[in-house]
Amino acid sequence: MKIICVGRNYADHARELKNDVPSSPVIFLKPDTALLKDGKPFYLPDHLGEIHHELELVLRICKNGKHISEKFAPDYYDQIGLGIDFTARTLQNELKTKGLPWELAKAFDSSAVLGDLVPKNELGAGNWELELFINDEPRQHGNTADMLFSFNYIVSFVSRYFSLRQGDLIYTGTPAGVGPVRIGDRLVGKLNGKQLLDFEVK
Ligand code: MG
Repeated sequence: MKIICVGRNYADHARELKNDVPSSPVIFLKPDTALLKDGKPFYLPDHLGEIHHELELVLRICKNGKHISEKFAPDYYDQIGLGIDFTARTLQNELKTKGLPWELAKAFDSSAVLGDLVPKNELGAGNWELELFINDEPRQHGNTADMLFSFNYIVSFVSRYFSLRQGDLIYTGTPAGVGPVRIGDRLVGKLNGKQLLDFEVK
């Protein structure tokens, strides 16, 4: 399986990092060794500098496909969850300055945390709310209404470049409020008020 990530999909987050709001999705990949699930602790790779949390909605691909039209995109993901796209921000800023790829700052071991997945039909129509709490304090809050690119557009767009396979995950971008994590932090994520993510930084 592969992990596909969208960068700068909420305008408020693009602005907080002083990036331009993109006219087409910014895409990068993480290897399967980046996946951390089942509430396992995240061991802080502090040799990489400051590590930031990015709370994101995650789609699970349920069917193989490529060149998927936006209209049929909903058939290709059946489950939704919350995840963290951990980012070595200091290192990413260095790479960005040099115009280099981001992988060293984005694709390290355990950098893609995944919480519980729920069937998308259970979430209902309309906009969904995602929230991150660290040690019970609210840190990130977003609403899918504020996404620059919809789930269906993202699935269609990436499938023009990469074949999608059952089990692939798509991290759909983070709202504003990103910041560093520290050893001892407990991260809890909620989707429409339902807790789907809960793990500790060690
Ligand atoms: Mg991200």
